[in-house]
Amino acid sequence: IEKLPGLGRTPLLFFISMLAHSSMIQYDTSLLELTGLENEIKLAIDKLSVWAAPRAVERSILTLSDQVYVRPQPLGVVLIIGAWNYPWALTLGPLVGAIAAGNAAVVKPSELSECSSLLLRALLPRYLDKDLYPVVTGGVSETQELLRQRWDHVFYTGSSSVGRLVMEAAAAHLTPVTLELGGKSPCYIHSDCNIRVVARRITWGKFVNCGQTCIAPDYVLCEPSVQNQLIDCIRLTLLEFYGADPKSSPDYGRIINQRHFNRILSLMEGYVPVIGGQSDASQRYIAPTVLRDVPPQSRLMQEEIFGPVLPLVAVSDIDDAIRFINEREKPLALYVFCTDQKGIEKMLEETTSGGVLVNDVLMHYTLSSLPFGGVGHSGMGSYHGKHSFEQLSHMRSCLVRSLAMESVNLSRYPPQDRRRGRI
Ligand code: NAD
Repeated sequence: IEKLPGLGRTPLLFFISMLAHSSMIQYDTSLLELTGLENEIKLAIDKLSVWAAPRAVERSILTLSDQVYVRPQPLGVVLIIGAWNYPWALTLGPLVGAIAAGNAAVVKPSELSECSSLLLRALLPRYLDKDLYPVVTGGVSETQELLRQRWDHVFYTGSSSVGRLVMEAAAAHLTPVTLELGGKSPCYIHSDCNIRVVARRITWGKFVNCGQTCIAPDYVLCEPSVQNQLIDCIRLTLLEFYGADPKSSPDYGRIINQRHFNRILSLMEGYVPVIGGQSDASQRYIAPTVLRDVPPQSRLMQEEIFGPVLPLVAVSDIDDAIRFINEREKPLALYVFCTDQKGIEKMLEETTSGGVLVNDVLMHYTLSSLPFGGVGHSGMGSYHGKHSFEQLSHMRSCLVRSLAMESVNLSRYPPQDRRRGRI
């Protein structure tokens, strides 16, 4: 392992690289979690001295001869609570930011991804100081106990409903929070697109990790004529990706547990799928499924799906799609497939979301230069790259003056008469 290329001496990078290069690691885990983590660690090591340096800011006429700057400071101790769907990226990603910013951190992975959680608890202390960065495992009651403690920052990834509880608990100590939440991320397809390419990109983003991705396209908005083409192209793409039987494909996942399996099946009740629909409880397998003409008021269109079910909702045009998106909570991601610049601009101008991606899905997550986070019900705060450092630092305002040239200050001291006299 020590001979692997690109390994620095940094313990966390060493640890991640070891995982990323292990033959036991699934392709998806490597692609969607570990590669990104490696890049985040390398970037932080490379840029830390720049990020952490005092940043000079503009002076006013009254502070012309002073030093005026912002000096990043550690917040203290950060509690990181991760979700199960990407158990490495959602715990170690924030941890990279916490360490870079000079904090200590307690990492609480999700109890649902139990094996990853136990592996993290066993391995992390071998690479990092176990007193500064302990891993605490456990479920709801352990997390609630952690949340009763006083922290300097709580970084939570998970559902909006638990996010509310986290914020409530943090409020008792006036602790700031970052909430990386979920919601329904819409995907709009304009009729001018090459639907074969669009279908390939959407099929990947929706069905990778079996739809259990916070920024997976939750549903598709398009005109009825596009629906027909899209269904044909998704069918072709599924064949290309997973073969005739996705159940036997090594590239197709399973649902995390029985509760989520039942929840997803119940969302599909009453529909006749145009693609997929098969399931097998013994393996928690749900086939890649597409449903067409789903009514906007259905339960499927009220709750985040978080599974391999893609509803297609008919809209009459781009204005109808914008109205549909704006009538709902602000999403974590918005995907716009369109080749017309005016159409793209209209979507960007008239909607909001945590992030927006034109003509692809998920890829904005991979860019450390873009802040990743939600808005409104999809979360608050953001991270990745420098944004993680800033999110977990206190940006302290510093004004350093000298005791010389006191005459300049006389005009601000009482008595007023003296000031008037001077003026
Ligand atoms: P989860 O059940 O693993 O819960 C997340 C964390 O909260 C866990 O560590 C868990 O122990 C803790 N928790 C659960 N219930 C709790 C309670 N009552 N009190 C205190 N702590 C509690 O994950 P989840 O919530 O099912 O995750 C899926 C959700 O997370 C989806 O909505 C998804 O969109 C969202 N998500 C968001 C992002 C993002 O980056 N914005 C990433 C991944 C997942």
